Amino acid sequence: MTKEIITASPRETFNVGEKVAVSLKGGETILLTGDLGAGKTMFAKGVAMGLGIDPSTPVVSPTFTLINMYKARIDIVHADLYRLEPEGILDLGIEEYMDNSHVIMVEWADISEGYFKGNLLRVKIEYLEENRRKIILSGDIIKEENWR
Ligand code: ADP
Ligand code: MG
Repeated sequence: MTKEIITASPRETFNVGEKVAVSLKGGETILLTGDLGAGKTMFAKGVAMGLGIDPSTPVVSPTFTLINMYKARIDIVHADLYRLEPEGILDLGIEEYMDNSHVIMVEWADISEGYFKGNLLRVKIEYLEENRRKIILSGDIIKEENWR
């Protein structure tokens, strides 16, 4: 299903990521879209925390490294396509991690939209005001009962 949430601070966006993480079992790919500064990395930090990453491990934007890996309850692959051409995704080797022991998070996923298959969670973040964002979650793992 699709769920829309308005957040009023970075912390609230982080919390939405953390909450989503509870439903992850491994094998999901989280496609993050939204303009620069929308909050994609903030959301990803929340997911990582919700998956039990060691809190001293920094979750930072992979804008320059292209891909970061974190150990957690389920191992995490965090990619950022911002600097890539659409075909550049093929060189990242993300496919290698598309299995039930990883969760993949991809910022600027729309750059290579057609590449992603399987259990997808789409997370679109829209800038509303300085501290307000609209987060649109859609995918099979989003269930109404989890948001009451
Ligand atoms: P992106 O990865 O989409 O480029 P970041 O997560 O790196 O964005 O940055 C989001 C920026 O917006 C941060 O500086 C954060 O403090 C700020 N911000 C303000 N309000 C919010 C909100 N409601 N949700 C997420 N980030 C917010
Ligand atoms: Mg980012």
